[in-house]
This record gives sequence, structure tokens and C-alpha cells, in this order.
Amino acid sequence: MPAKPKKAVGSGKRSAKKKCPICGKPATEASRPFCSERCRDVDLNRWLSDSYRIPAANDDDEDGD
Ligand SMILES: [Zn+2]
Repeated sequence: MPAKPKKAVGSGKRSAKKKCPICGKPATEASRPFCSERCRDVDLNRWLSDSYRIPAANDDDEDGD
């Protein structure tokens, strides 16, 4: 049996600041994991616009008659 796949964890220290996934700046405590609320909004908008692309299964259209 293969051993459990270990995740590539860099430094397990929590003090290591994460980088903002949007702009790459160091994340702040207030807006983790983003550097600012602006970047958090950007990420949210991305996520939303991405989900909009997924066609929603509409079962409201009741044309059974
Ligand atoms: Zn940012």
C-alpha cells in the first residue's frame, strides 16, 4: 500500500504571512487571506461572475400541462 500522500507544506509556522491571492501583497489580519477589502471584493466578484457562467437548472418552468 502506498503511504499517505504528504501535502507539500512549506513552513508550518503561522507567523508566516500569506500572500494575497489577488495581487500578491502580504495579507493583512483584517482582510485575510487578502491584503485588503478591495482584493477581497475582487475575489468575490470573480467568484460570482464565474458562477454566473454556470447555467442554473431551472425547474420552475412547469410546462407539464
Ligand atoms: Zn491584494
